[in-house]
Amino acid sequence: MHRPLPRGVFLAVSRSLTLGVLALAPLLPSAVHAAAPQVRTQAPGFYRMMLGDFEVTALSDGTVPLTVREVATHTTPERVTELLSRDHLEDPVELSINAFLVNTGTALVLVDTGVGGFFGPDVGGRLQQSLQAAGYQPEQIDVVLLTHIHSDHSGGLMSATRRAFPNAILQVHAREAAFWLGHNPRPKGTVDPKYFEEARAMVEPYQVAGKLKTFGDGDTVVPGIRAVPTPGHTPGHSAYVVESRGQRLALWGDLMHFGSVQLREPSVTVAYDVDERAAAAQRARAFTEAAKRGDLLGFAHMPFPGLGRLGTEGRPGAEGRPGAEGKSYRWIPINYSSGQRWQPAKVRAD
Ligand SMILES: [Zn+2]
Ligand SMILES: [Zn+2]
Repeated sequence: MHRPLPRGVFLAVSRSLTLGVLALAPLLPSAVHAAAPQVRTQAPGFYRMMLGDFEVTALSDGTVPLTVREVATHTTPERVTELLSRDHLEDPVELSINAFLVNTGTALVLVDTGVGGFFGPDVGGRLQQSLQAAGYQPEQIDVVLLTHIHSDHSGGLMSATRRAFPNAILQVHAREAAFWLGHNPRPKGTVDPKYFEEARAMVEPYQVAGKLKTFGDGDTVVPGIRAVPTPGHTPGHSAYVVESRGQRLALWGDLMHFGSVQLREPSVTVAYDVDERAAAAQRARAFTEAAKRGDLLGFAHMPFPGLGRLGTEGRPGAEGRPGAEGKSYRWIPINYSSGQRWQPAKVRAD
């Protein structure tokens, strides 16, 4: 297919011909050919890093468009809009949904499973595709750990009526399981009843199959992976600290949802925090410690792959309006590695 030359090209060509600059002639064919069709797809959503002897793979479940000013609480819509605009974002923001796969050498562990089909077609739900692109099959997963049972973390547990990870033990904090699966009267607060139904639909099949295991505060859930209680967003919300050869990665789940807002003002909460006050306190405490220590963090909803560190931003309150404890933070994304300098994997003698 040929298109007429744009006027600028025509003038440039005629001028160059007039000047007798024949050296430009080889450039002409590209100017008259039609553009290649646009592809408009993304690369498979995985990003791999080594952590000591462990291989960690961030897996993208895709994104969900979210109107931040409608779900952010303890702030105003105007303030949210202003904070987003500082990062050149506007509502609705495309929010990443990330999960993390840890191959310890003895166990293959998936932390969170994405949203599955709960957000409808073509909104998230790409975890299986990302997992396979990353070189693994769902049958190989030994353990699934959930940071909490919200549907954007547990929705990938089932594939229609089958357990999506048929050989995996599902592990979740005992308080989390009791809250979402328990048949007690509803707790205080205004938790949408649909969240309870979704939780049961995803987790009960594992329970029925004898594949659900609960843990308590601080338990080592898999050798090299420890659960750290971070209740607030949900009653049994758990971070996981992954550690190998002195290197540490803390997988923080939903300790933060919107970086552009909550890094600057950690006191801002979200409508689906089960206990907003506790969630904000947890975030303030965790941010302070992680920034001080320079911890490597993995978040479920920071832009994929969601791996990076927190830095303290300027003087307390320097952003104009102080956040919790007057501190604000900045996100330092992990430096990209092509993997070309990693040691080759050792072949396991089975
Ligand atoms: Zn959540
Ligand atoms: Zn979430």
